[in-house]
Amino acid sequence: MKKLINKEVIFCDRCNKEVEYSAECVSCGSEFCYDCSKKIGKTFSAGVFYSGSGDSYFCHTCIQNIPPEMTSLFAAYIRIQALRQEQKTMWEDFDKRRNNAEEELQQLLKKGTYHDKS
Ligand SMILES: [Zn+2]
Ligand SMILES: [Zn+2]
Repeated sequence: MKKLINKEVIFCDRCNKEVEYSAECVSCGSEFCYDCSKKIGKTFSAGVFYSGSGDSYFCHTCIQNIPPEMTSLFAAYIRIQALRQEQKTMWEDFDKRRNNAEEELQQLLKKGTYHDKS
């Protein structure tokens, strides 16, 4: 069967490649293919412990010059991003101290049994 259909296709605004899915800047509406989107913008997570629903992509041009109507939204994403970073640093620090403590205990245990010592 042959059918003539109208199909909307997306072209990357940077490299002009045809893509099925694009990253669309919530601020200016530019659409980018996966590779370009990684290079010239950033996806901001909607949650500290999750991402996905509610995430937004901002292109660098917009990040560097956030339009007035987007400042509140962008600030909210930045707040989440800072908390994510803080959480990560917190865990890294915790892991470091945990490793040191466990390592030290193992070293002490290796030295031998303590009740043998007079
Ligand atoms: Zn592209
Ligand atoms: Zn943009």
